Amino acid sequence: MKLDMPLSLMAGIGPKRAEQFERLGLVTVGDLLDFYPRSYEDYGDVIAIGKVQPGKVTILAKPTTVTGRYVRRGLHVTEAVVADTSGELRVVWFNQPYRAAQIDTSKEYYFSGEYEFARGRYVLNNPQTELAANVDPNGSRITPVYKETKGLTSAFIGRALSSLMPLVDDLPETLPPELCKEYDLLARPAALRAIHAPMTKADYEAGRQRFGFEELLAVVVAAAMNKRENAALEAWHIPFDEAAAQAFAGSLPFKLTNAQRSAVWEIIKNLEAGTPMNRLLQGDVGSGKTVVAAMVAFMAAQAGYQTAFMAPTELLAAQHAATLDKLLTPHHLTVALLTGSVKPKARAPLLEAVASGAIAVTVGTHALIQPTVNFHSLGFVVIDEQHRFGVEQRRRLMDKSARMPHLLSMSATPIPRSLALTVYGELDVSILNELPPGRTPITTKIASPNSRAKVYEAADTAIEAGRQVYVVCPQIEPSAAVPGKGSAKTKAAPGGDDHKSVVQAFQKISGSLLKHRRVAMLHGAMNADQKAEIMAGFVAGEIDVLVSTTVIEVGVDVPNATIMIIENADHFGLAQLHQLRGRVGRGKEQSYCYLIPATSKAPSRRLRELEQSTDGFYLSEVDLELRGPGEVYGRAQHGQLDMRLARIGDVRFVERVQKAAQWLLNSTIDLNNYPELASRIERAKRVITLN
Ligand code: ADP
Ligand code: MG
Repeated sequence: MKLDMPLSLMAGIGPKRAEQFERLGLVTVGDLLDFYPRSYEDYGDVIAIGKVQPGKVTILAKPTTVTGRYVRRGLHVTEAVVADTSGELRVVWFNQPYRAAQIDTSKEYYFSGEYEFARGRYVLNNPQTELAANVDPNGSRITPVYKETKGLTSAFIGRALSSLMPLVDDLPETLPPELCKEYDLLARPAALRAIHAPMTKADYEAGRQRFGFEELLAVVVAAAMNKRENAALEAWHIPFDEAAAQAFAGSLPFKLTNAQRSAVWEIIKNLEAGTPMNRLLQGDVGSGKTVVAAMVAFMAAQAGYQTAFMAPTELLAAQHAATLDKLLTPHHLTVALLTGSVKPKARAPLLEAVASGAIAVTVGTHALIQPTVNFHSLGFVVIDEQHRFGVEQRRRLMDKSARMPHLLSMSATPIPRSLALTVYGELDVSILNELPPGRTPITTKIASPNSRAKVYEAADTAIEAGRQVYVVCPQIEPSAAVPGKGSAKTKAAPGGDDHKSVVQAFQKISGSLLKHRRVAMLHGAMNADQKAEIMAGFVAGEIDVLVSTTVIEVGVDVPNATIMIIENADHFGLAQLHQLRGRVGRGKEQSYCYLIPATSKAPSRRLRELEQSTDGFYLSEVDLELRGPGEVYGRAQHGQLDMRLARIGDVRFVERVQKAAQWLLNSTIDLNNYPELASRIERAKRVITLN
């Protein structure tokens, strides 16, 4: 069997079939073998219709009627009544218009799905459907379920794969057999059979285990190699000047927390080591990361090196610049702000001052990576909210130094431990797990849309006492105003929806809910000047209520704001909600965060977890569990990492893979003999590298 053989050369696959396969991204035999099932159905577990209870069920039944229609634009419903000797039930499929034509009322099928109450009656919802005649009575009853496309069923894909199974023994092993033996992994042929043609649940689990291991191994080995390569580079030497460090700490209006002190200490050791620092500084919003960065920038300047400090938005960059300016000016260091909205007239002299070395710390947005920006002696790079930047953008900033500069990445999004061990395995990590003293923990409450008036009453009381309020909505304009969307005319659910957009919520709040208060709105469609003016007004206390999208970034610091109201809260991810919440609770006053879901249905797990916990690390674990590593790690980077089966949330599994990676790197095994693994590692190295 040749892995690069086109599928069209397989028996039973003509040009038309090949086209269907191509829609799933499958062109060659190798692609097909790599196309793992989404799930498995156990057709051995059939239940009589008369005995069906709500929940997951598999029935063996004959359809009596099948009809399909569009109930409205964008929503197609296929309905069938199916029967066995014990009774009949109703089956529905949504947006699978091809179903009706596929189903033959003279034949028996397995239907496997969720039996549930929906729209006023019980139905079997979107079941996996398999012609009974296709299920071999003597073979396995466990049937892999593959992603389907129009005209191409899971069953057909399964049959194509079955026909390949006798040939897989000839395929080369992609992992060193010694490693498979040491770590109890199936050999590749056995793993392919286990995953595509399992006899038992244990089979496919072992298959998934082997391929998941392989995926993660490549990433972990890549991280270890990056780390070794980085350690071989020579870096700028920034010696520890104890007197200067003490003078700086002594000049602060507060005492550093213990967490800040140990982070600074860890960094100092890196700067002296002679190899480039590659450290991630993690800490919840308000934990004092910027101060740590400022202190390091100060030490770099003492040694003659400039600092570049990149943040994802203008607002954040401006705020960091102001903070750093306050902290560094007393020490006679110049801080400059470089963003896209610096006018050409001001830009030229600014760029010159950066290039001449007159500016010690340049804070900015993506504007920093423009080719026109040159440094005199860039030695230290800080990247705030590093996951918001792509690998390429980070690299371009670092390339402005003649040597690999010291890098401090900062993140207010805590990374789950398992991710920190894997994709971030090449990083050193410092954690600020302690908030500066004098802060009162935020109280979080889920409030049904029916009780919205009460929430705004509470806000009104706080404003009366001199406090300020944030209201965050998921979008700028009402959905119907979005041009060019086919479904835009669809009437959205009534109720919560009139608070979904900033524009609507602003009208409601300034027109009725809090009409006697000073209300302003802020969103990404406004220009930078407008945004800056509104934000300045809020900072100065001239605005009571700020209605905004998520443009107000993590880290924006208005200690007088004590109420955060999040409208349509289910729209946001857990990590994002946690970050939004962090905009309040920055002063001494008790702060509140109200989560208002779109409907008064039972709130989601996300919202309930957020209501219960303020621990960013705990929430990050929950987030990982709910969304999977792809989303948590960051869309851009992860899209290029092949991690479909690796159970990255499972710390024990991750630790085993880590051991295997070390075992492999310390062994005499030549990776060149495993080109597939070697190229996976190469790819992963490029994707995860920070330097
Ligand atoms: P982060 O960047 O982690 O969100 P910041 O560095 O912006 O946090 O600090 C948040 C606020 O706390 C700032 O107003 C800062 O001046 C203040 N702060 C930082 N460290 C301390 C400390 N050790 N004690 C008191 N206040 C602090
Ligand atoms: Mg900050």
